[in-house]
Amino acid sequence: MTARKVLLLIIDGVSDRPCNELGRLTPLQAARTPILDRITAEGVSGIMDTIGPGIRPGSDTSHLSLLGYPPEQYYTGRGPLEAAGTGITMEPGMVGFRCNYATIDGNGHVIDRRAGRIHNTSLLSRIVEEMVDLSSFGVDVLFRSGAGHRAALAFRGEGLGACVSSNDPKKEGIIPPAFVPLSDSSADKKTADALNEFIRQSLPLLADHPLNQDRKREGLPMANMILIRGAGQMGHYEPFRERYGLSGSVISAATLITGIGKSLGLRYVMVEGATGSSDTNLEGKVNAALTELKEQDFVLLNIKGADEAGHDGRAIEKKNFIERIDSALEPLLDTNDCLIVVCADHSTPCSIRDHSADPVPLVIRGDGVRTDSVMHFDEVACAEGGLNRISGQSLMPIICDLINKAKKYGA
Ligand code: ZN
Ligand code: ZN
Repeated sequence: MTARKVLLLIIDGVSDRPCNELGRLTPLQAARTPILDRITAEGVSGIMDTIGPGIRPGSDTSHLSLLGYPPEQYYTGRGPLEAAGTGITMEPGMVGFRCNYATIDGNGHVIDRRAGRIHNTSLLSRIVEEMVDLSSFGVDVLFRSGAGHRAALAFRGEGLGACVSSNDPKKEGIIPPAFVPLSDSSADKKTADALNEFIRQSLPLLADHPLNQDRKREGLPMANMILIRGAGQMGHYEPFRERYGLSGSVISAATLITGIGKSLGLRYVMVEGATGSSDTNLEGKVNAALTELKEQDFVLLNIKGADEAGHDGRAIEKKNFIERIDSALEPLLDTNDCLIVVCADHSTPCSIRDHSADPVPLVIRGDGVRTDSVMHFDEVACAEGGLNRISGQSLMPIICDLINKAKKYGA
């Protein structure tokens, strides 16, 4: 028997380095993970450099690499992927940006870069998208709210560049600077000019909006300024289905990851209560993945909270969240006909509170897959496994081979 379907579970930033609070174990080593251990015992393990040895991956570049789209060829910055993740249809050549709603005072100084961590800004975003008119630049404006105070902007039009400055002063008490082109090209100048006009028109729309007037009355910081960064031009992504002959879905609370999925033509599945933090609806996400696998060949499931704990340097919380993830994975043990692939996109060691290049653990379990002697899913045990140490760009070829979708090289 050979498995025909694939669940790729990426536990974001789950791997780590030894933590003092855990007796020099990693959170994965210290956590009690009977389900992940059973998957490991029944599968083949290894460790993986998701981009390359010594390269510290972003979540975006590592996910592209794991899906077989080399980031050095495909990655054009975070903006266009964030924009795709908020639901904007990004066509090649469009320019995308990440945005924050922020609060400015009467003199234009930023007094809160996150507008009091406002959420539900969709009414504000709708009015900005409808009313800001950049037709004099030949530019269509697309603007959507993301989670919390976040949003994304995209410009569609001829002759736009993406090499422009940001207006995010990065700290409070400063007036956001005007956008400037970062090269001599007229395309970059056009984008910078269009961004300055976008801000000029959006300011009164935001200040006068009833939602902000209500906030003012309640003494809450108004969302009356948009800070814009991460400009990038949307690239051309060969659809996942064409590249591998597999239909697929993406399940993730992070707009960046859903944006990658959508850019590759994966179906986006919304899960109620999926927050991208440790309070997320894990059971709902796992169930949604199993439901999708009835129809689709491939499901990418990203679980984010462990990365957050790593960024905050909280080793014990990271270990506890790993244990919660583990119990939510129990339904995976009953899947037939499906390859279960579990890994991380990068390590997020509590000791450095950021991503590191330490290789991540990997296990593949399913019909027809060899087993090795590794019994525990962690950074050290998996290094003894039958996959040894692979590169992230080998993952999809290995998966395709195991589900009989690989073509023979040679006679
Ligand atoms: Zn990540
Ligand atoms: Zn991270």
